[in-house]
Formats: sequence, structure tokens, C-alpha cells
Amino acid sequence: MKAVCWQKANDVRVETVPDPKVLNPRDAILKITSTAICGSDLHIYGGYIPTVQAGDIIGHEFMGEVVDIGSGVNNLKIGDRVVVPSTIGCGHCHYCEHDMWSLCDNSIPNGAIEEKLFGNITSAIF
Ligand SMILES: [Zn+2]
Ligand SMILES: [Zn+2]
Repeated sequence: MKAVCWQKANDVRVETVPDPKVLNPRDAILKITSTAICGSDLHIYGGYIPTVQAGDIIGHEFMGEVVDIGSGVNNLKIGDRVVVPSTIGCGHCHYCEHDMWSLCDNSIPNGAIEEKLFGNITSAIF
């Protein structure tokens, strides 16, 4: 597939990257039909996010068609058209169950870095 990939500060390129695969039973794979670079991407573009590495795919707000789902997904089916916000919520923690997905306790893989920086964690962000 084609993706916008960060190379270094102020340098992004459209590259061919491996197609995504379902890795977790709760994953869904979309064929993206529309997306855009937003203001948050400027932090990455400018080189201000220290964990971003050359080749990382950027872009975190999109819409598309579901083309594959994991065995644990029960609220989507292949062919559904969806709009995806930047925040990732697990759907089952205290915050997700109270419609505060941006505070999800379970979606960020490296929360210790954020906790050290901000004193607490937020959700992961695409
Ligand atoms: Zn954004
Ligand atoms: Zn959650």
C-alpha cells in the first residue's frame, strides 16, 4: 500500500509499505478512502516527537472501508464504512465505558514515557 512516511524533520515522502495485517483479535484493517494531514502531524513533521523513526507512517484521522477484522471484533463487519478519530480506546476500561476514550488506560503501548512526561497517561493515538 502507499503511505506518507516520515524521513527526518521537515521531510516526508509517499512510499510503498507492507500491507497491514490483523495482529490482535480486536484489530480491524481499513482500505482508506479519505484522510488528511492535521495540525497534530506538524509536531511529527517538525521532528518534535522523539520516538518517531525514519520510515514511520504518519496520518491519524481517516475514513474507509473495513476489509479485515480480528476474531474478537463484534461491532464491525467487512464492508462497513467507518470514520476514525485520532484517539484509540479499548472500549472496556473505566474511561471508555464513560465516553472518555482519550483517557483510555489500555491502548497506549509505551505509557511509561508519557507518564514520566505528563504525570499520567492518555490514550494511544494513531
Ligand atoms: Zn489530528
Ligand atoms: Zn479504554
